[in-house]
Amino acid sequence: MSSIARLMVAATLAGCLAGCPKTTTPEPAVQESAVSPIEQARTFADAYEARVAPVAKDLNLAYWDATTSGDAEAYARAGELDLQLRQLHADPTEFAQLLAWLPAVEASAEDAILLRELQRIHGHYAPNQIDAELMAQMVTLGVEVEEIYSTHRGTVDGEPVDANGIYEIMLTSTDAELRRKAWEASKQVGPLVADKLVTLVKLRNQAAVQAGYPDFYQMRLSLAEQDPATVQALFADMAARSQAPFEQLKGELDAVLAERHGVDADALMPWHYADPFFQEAPRISDRDLDAFYRGRSVEAVNTAYFEGIGLEVTAIIERSDLYPRDGKQPSAYCTDIDREGDVRVFCNLEDDDYWMSTMLHELGHAVYDEYIDPDLPWVLRGATHSFATEAVALLFGRLSKDPNWIDCATDLTPEEIEPAADDLRRTQRLLQVVFARWSLVMVDFERGLYADPDQDLNTLWWDLVEKHQLLQRPPDREAADWATKIHIVTAPAYYHNYLMGEMLASQMLSAMSRDLYDGQQFTEIDTCANPEVGAWLVDRIFEPGASVHWSQLVEDATGEPLTPRYFVEEYLTQPE
Ligand SMILES: [Zn+2]
Repeated sequence: MSSIARLMVAATLAGCLAGCPKTTTPEPAVQESAVSPIEQARTFADAYEARVAPVAKDLNLAYWDATTSGDAEAYARAGELDLQLRQLHADPTEFAQLLAWLPAVEASAEDAILLRELQRIHGHYAPNQIDAELMAQMVTLGVEVEEIYSTHRGTVDGEPVDANGIYEIMLTSTDAELRRKAWEASKQVGPLVADKLVTLVKLRNQAAVQAGYPDFYQMRLSLAEQDPATVQALFADMAARSQAPFEQLKGELDAVLAERHGVDADALMPWHYADPFFQEAPRISDRDLDAFYRGRSVEAVNTAYFEGIGLEVTAIIERSDLYPRDGKQPSAYCTDIDREGDVRVFCNLEDDDYWMSTMLHELGHAVYDEYIDPDLPWVLRGATHSFATEAVALLFGRLSKDPNWIDCATDLTPEEIEPAADDLRRTQRLLQVVFARWSLVMVDFERGLYADPDQDLNTLWWDLVEKHQLLQRPPDREAADWATKIHIVTAPAYYHNYLMGEMLASQMLSAMSRDLYDGQQFTEIDTCANPEVGAWLVDRIFEPGASVHWSQLVEDATGEPLTPRYFVEEYLTQPE
C-alpha cells in the first residue's frame, strides 16, 4: 500500500475515532469474497487472539522474572518478546484490512463487541505502521536524549550532584542561596537536550502527518481513544474551576514558606518550593505520617480492608511478590499475566505511609483486572482505559491519609487519630491541588510543543508556570527549563492521564456517596466493611472491561461525563 493511500485511510479513521462523519471511502483492502466483511473480521479477531495472547503472556512472565530477580537474561528475554509483540502488529496488509472492516462493522451495528475488539486491535497496529527509517531515527534520538538525562550531573559550587542530592537540598535546606544553586543545577541539563528534543518532536510530527493526523500529540490521543478537543476542554474547565481556590491555598502556603525562609511572600522564587518543578506540595506540618503504620503489617491491613468491601485479594496476594530483597527492582506495579486470572502485585513493602498507599494503589489495579468479565474476548479483558484503572488505584491509594480509614482499618484509637485529622486532610489536599496545577502546565505545554515546535518554547513554558502554578519567573531567566522534564521524551502525550485519573477517582467517590451513603460529604465517607462498595465497583466499572468506551462507561457509572467538578469539590472547596 502506498504511503498516500495509507494517509487517506488513516485520515478517514482519525475522523471516525473523533466521531466525525466519514467522507471518504477506504481503499478496498479486503479480497473479493462471498464471506461478509463482518465474518472476515470475526475470523481475524479470533486468530489475532490466538497469535498474540501467548506472546503477551510470555512477555509479562519474562518481565516478572526480570524485576523479581534482576536477572539480565530475563530482561533480555523481555526485550525480545516486546519486539516480537510489536512485529505481530506491523503487517501493513492486516492494518489495511482493519481499516476497511471498521466502518463496515460500525455501520452494521450488529456486533458491538466485535467493533470494540477491532478498535482496540487497531490501536495496537497503528503505532507500528510508522515508516521503518523514521522509526529508527526516533528510537536512536530518544535513546541518545535519555542517556544524557541519566548520565548528566548538575553542579553546585563546581561539585556534581545527582537528582537525589538536589531533592534532598530542596526538601530540607533553609539556606536560600544553596536552594537556588540546587534548583539551577536541576535545570542545567535543559540546554544540552533542548535542540535534540525539538528535532525529536519534529520527527514524531512527521510520523503523525504521514498517518493523517495534524501532529503527534493529536495522533497519540486519538489512537488512545481520547478526542483531543474533549481533553483540552476538560483541562480548561479544571483550570477555571480551580483558579480562585488555588490562589487562596497558594497564598496560605506562601505565608508558611515566607516565614520559613525569612523573606517576603512576594520575594518567593521557584527554589523556595519543595522540588524543582513544584509538582509536589512542600511539607507544612512536622507530623510524622509514617507513625500510623510503623510496626503494622501493610499486607494484613490491606487484606482485611479489601475483603471487608467484598473484593477477594487473598489469592492475588499469594501470587504476588511483596517484600524487598537483594536483586529485586525497588519499585511497584501490578500485572495481569494472562487475563485468565493470574493477577499479581509487585511491591517492596515497608511499614510506612508510602508503602501503605502504594499497596492500596496496586491492589486497586489488581481487583480491577480480577473482576473483569471472564467471558469477554481476550482483547477486551483489560481496563476501559489506562486512566480508568489509574483512577481506581488512586481512589484506594488516597486512603492512607484519610483519618476515617485509618480509624477503621487499623487498631489505632480515635484519640490517637483525631489530633492528626486536620493535618492529614490538609496534607492530602495540598498534594492533590499542587499536582493538579502542575499537570495543567505539562498538558498545555506538550500540546503547544507539538502544535508549533518552532515557537519560543522557553517563553511558553514560563508563561504557563506563572499562569497555572502562580510561581515567579526568576528575573531575566532565559533557559530551556521545559527540556528538563524527562516525561516529554519517555512518555510523550501521556501526562494528562494522571489528572484525568484523579478527576475520575473523585467522581466515582461522589457517585458512590450518592448511591450508597445518602450523599455524604467526601470527608465523612467511610468505606470500610461495606461490601456494597466492592459490588458497586465491580458492577459499574470493572466487569465491562474494555467492551465499553471509557466516556460511555464513566457516564453510565456516575450519571454524567467525566468532569473536574468533583475533584474541585473534594480538594478545593474549603471545609466549613
Ligand atoms: Zn497505578
